[in-house]
Amino acid sequence: MEMKTILVVEDEREIARMVQAYLMREGYRVEVAFDGDEGWVRFKTLQPDLVILDLMLPGMHGLEVARRIRQGSPTPIIMLTARAEEADRVAGLEMGADDYVAKPFSLRELAARVRAVLRRTEGGPTPEVIHAGPLTVDLAAREARLEGELVDLTPTEFDLLAHLARYPGRVFTRRELLEALQERSYATLPRTVDSHVKNLRRKLEPDPDKPTFILTVHGVGYKFRPAHEEG
Ligand code: CA
Repeated sequence: MEMKTILVVEDEREIARMVQAYLMREGYRVEVAFDGDEGWVRFKTLQPDLVILDLMLPGMHGLEVARRIRQGSPTPIIMLTARAEEADRVAGLEMGADDYVAKPFSLRELAARVRAVLRRTEGGPTPEVIHAGPLTVDLAAREARLEGELVDLTPTEFDLLAHLARYPGRVFTRRELLEALQERSYATLPRTVDSHVKNLRRKLEPDPDKPTFILTVHGVGYKFRPAHEEG
C-alpha cells in the first residue's frame, strides 16, 4: 500500500512532535508546520492526504487555513480544538473539516480518527445499501429495515438517516443537516433537526435514551455510529 502523507499544523511544538512520532510509527509520512501561514504554504507544496489542523494558531487562524484548503481541494481535515472552543468547532465543521479531536486527546484516539477519515474519504462511491448491525438503509429503494422488518419513516426522517449513515463517524452540525433536508422541508431552525432525530430514535432504537445508531455530539450535532463500533 502506498504511504499516506499527513500534514500536522500545530504551534505547540511538543504536541506536534508527539503526534508526528506516533503517526510515523503507525506507518504514515508526517510533516509538521508550526503556524497558520507556514501550514498553508506546506499544504500547497506537500499536497498531503490528510491535514491535522490546530485552530488557535499564530499567524493565519486555523479556520482560515481550513477555508483555503477547502476552496481548492477535498483533502480531509481533522481539527484540534480546545474544550472552550465550541463555537470554533462548529464553524470548522461548517467550513468543511471532516472531524475534530478536543484537547487534551489521546494519541491512540487521534490515530483512530485518522484511519477512519482516510477510510471514509477513499471509500469510493457509497454503496446502495448501508449496513449497521441490525439496521440496513437501502438508498435506492428509500427503505430502512431493522432485523429485516421495514421501519415506517417519513420522507424527511429517511433523508436525515440516509445523510448520516452515508458517512459513519462523521460529525454533522445541526445546520449542515438542516441544509441537507432543505429540498424537502421548509424548516429553518437548527433545533428542528433534534425533533427528527428524536422520532428516528423512537422508531429505530430498543432504548431511545441510549441510542446506538444516531449519536449525539454534545454542543455540535450528530453522527452515525462509526463502522468500527459495530455490534
Ligand atoms: Ca494552538
